Amino acid sequence: MSDTAADHSATDPGAPAGGRELSGTALMDKVVNLCKRRGFVFPSAEIYGGFRSAYDYGPEGVLMLRNVKDAWWRSMVQMRTDVVGLDASILSPPAIWEASGHLQNFTDPLVDCTKCGHRFREDHLEDLGTCPNCGAKDSFTGARAFNLMFKTHAGPVEESAAVAYLRPETAQGMFVNFANVLNASRKKPPFGIAQVGKSFRNEITPGNFVFRTREFEQMELEFFVPPDQGAQWYEYWCRERVQWYRELGIPEASLRLRAHDAEELSHYSTGTSDVEFLFPWGWGELEGIANRTDYDLTQHSRHSGVDLSYFDQESGSRYVPHVIEPAAGATRSMMAFLIAAYDEEEVRGETRVVLRLHPRIAPYKVAVLPLSKKETLTVTSREVLGLVQGRWMSDHDETQSIGRRYRRQDELGTPYCVTVDFDSLEDRAVTVRDRDSMAQDRVPIAELVGFLAERLP
Ligand code: ATP
Repeated sequence: MSDTAADHSATDPGAPAGGRELSGTALMDKVVNLCKRRGFVFPSAEIYGGFRSAYDYGPEGVLMLRNVKDAWWRSMVQMRTDVVGLDASILSPPAIWEASGHLQNFTDPLVDCTKCGHRFREDHLEDLGTCPNCGAKDSFTGARAFNLMFKTHAGPVEESAAVAYLRPETAQGMFVNFANVLNASRKKPPFGIAQVGKSFRNEITPGNFVFRTREFEQMELEFFVPPDQGAQWYEYWCRERVQWYRELGIPEASLRLRAHDAEELSHYSTGTSDVEFLFPWGWGELEGIANRTDYDLTQHSRHSGVDLSYFDQESGSRYVPHVIEPAAGATRSMMAFLIAAYDEEEVRGETRVVLRLHPRIAPYKVAVLPLSKKETLTVTSREVLGLVQGRWMSDHDETQSIGRRYRRQDELGTPYCVTVDFDSLEDRAVTVRDRDSMAQDRVPIAELVGFLAERLP
């Protein structure tokens, strides 16, 4: 076999012949399977039979999840002057959850089937007269309010004074630090506090892979505004947030903004809309955007005795800011990005699986592939890797045939493969292969970083 650039295309069979339509359970199975096989998501504690609804993020998953969170942070904090960040404690005292209303109200209606013993969320049942597990008729107990917060004890003594909760949302950290952030950052409304981190909910019916888990990651913004600007900022954030998913590759047909009707609205909210994605089983929430009025700051003022109002020196008025909250799930969004990106196409009689991920969220941006394991090539491919890896997360893979390595990178969603062949030693050039079109360009090593920089974020 010769080692010229042209030969790479001989092992990379031709141009795409059009995507294959996939949907429903078939699509879901393929994505879950790829996640395990390629190191995105593993069932947690698998060698011990698994731990229901918990998942571990593998070498590729940890990169992608971080990229999703970074993309959010970039758009919500880095590219703005009116939002600052926060990382609040996960363990929290009951006082916070008393004030927020979670101890009282953060419940789901739980029903049991008296025939098979399965538990369901009453509001998730399509037919209240039939058990979806065993088919029994009129077998449900009455609904009981089940609090979703995980309770634990801080310190060595299990007494009520030491009760602590794992936060079920990141939002309260922003409210209880409102005055601290205001003083430290010298911001004034309208301004926001953003936080990304883990939250915990003892969900009655976790499931659908990482869509609903008991431990998950959230990306939340609390945006504090003068009361008369609430409506306009609510509209603004609804638009912005839909746009964020669009820009990262969720197709328009799979995305919608759904306004809550009066029945669905929390008592304090004057408007809530969900950004929803068309999952293989139907529409599901990715993010809720709520106009929470002055509810949170008023509650915490009352319960803590600390004044959380704001004095506006320009107008000489004092008010409790209203809050617009875009609250998204990082792990759930990652799943939506994976589903939207999954594609299969027929290429010269073979199925090519490719994740058409936006480069910003793809685990690796570049894979450097020496055509063979010969040491002369390894030296040059390491040199090429050294040029790119400081700037972009890069993979280096020298095992198996080049065709198989391209396929692997397609399944990881790597936008560009850079192949070092024996000609590279002579002409100091490499072949750059585009994931989506499979087109190959011969690029001088000296120009490689510039070539990739034009195409990658
Ligand atoms: P749902 O109706 O699906 O239970 P929610 O309306 O209670 O969600 P919020 O409290 O608005 O959710 O949380 C904001 C976001 O956090 C959700 O849109 C979702 O992306 C994510 N999220 C909430 N609960 C879970 C969970 N159990 N597993 C994964 N992500 C979650």
